[in-house]
Amino acid sequence: MIAIRFLGTGGARFVVAKQIRSSGGMWMRFGATQIHVDPGPGALVRALSVVPPCEPPELDAIVLSHKHLDHANDVNVMIEAMSQGGWKPRGALFAPRDALDFEPVVFPYVRKFVPREEILSERSGPYAINDVEVRTSIRHRHGVETYGLHFRYDGKTVSYLPCTRFFPALIDDYRRHEPDVLIMNVLRFRDAMDVDHLTFDDARALVDGVRPKAVIMTHFGTKMLEQDPHALARALEDEFGVRAYAAYDGWTYDGLG
Ligand SMILES: [Zn+2]
Ligand SMILES: [Zn+2]
Repeated sequence: MIAIRFLGTGGARFVVAKQIRSSGGMWMRFGATQIHVDPGPGALVRALSVVPPCEPPELDAIVLSHKHLDHANDVNVMIEAMSQGGWKPRGALFAPRDALDFEPVVFPYVRKFVPREEILSERSGPYAINDVEVRTSIRHRHGVETYGLHFRYDGKTVSYLPCTRFFPALIDDYRRHEPDVLIMNVLRFRDAMDVDHLTFDDARALVDGVRPKAVIMTHFGTKMLEQDPHALARALEDEFGVRAYAAYDGWTYDGLG
């Protein structure tokens, strides 16, 4: 059983600041293993308010793709919740080095509540989280240290491609892992400004090159929301013959059986 619950699907400062979409990251279940990826603002509140709730004391790991606030704001409170206020140290924390060393986003006293810490680097791993294997991607181009994540469980691969500027080597890296599902942060529709984020056209190039069996877009900015992400997902299906989804808050993807 693989299930990915979207506790937030918003990206970009405006969408997050106004909470037009939530920003709680993804709660992934691989069998009995539970992993929270990118706990942005509101992650704990969202985790507890979905039905049935996601239970932080059952978490096996918290993973940060990078330390930007929309991905990491709630990391401290999630670690406290995972470890029951620090009384029951538990689980693992995965993060790039600059999230922990340089202008860190995890408080030193909270780090003591997690018995295992793994510093992510380029193409690192595999790391075992119970029977889930995690590997990182090449380094993304995104200002702070940022890595994608490839999760392998029960013969299936879920790849998460977080925020980045597009560059062709992304295609080679993600294609090598042959993802059954590719989750992509598609913040922008077209490039109005020169920023370190994917546009919808970049997403098209990635789907064309990586050829996942299914693709899920998330982390939307205002222009993407104005375009209707569901219509854009249908456009990807028509163009490339893949299953394509636009994530929405509270949605669970369980299409891998
Ligand atoms: Zn982001
Ligand atoms: Zn970012």
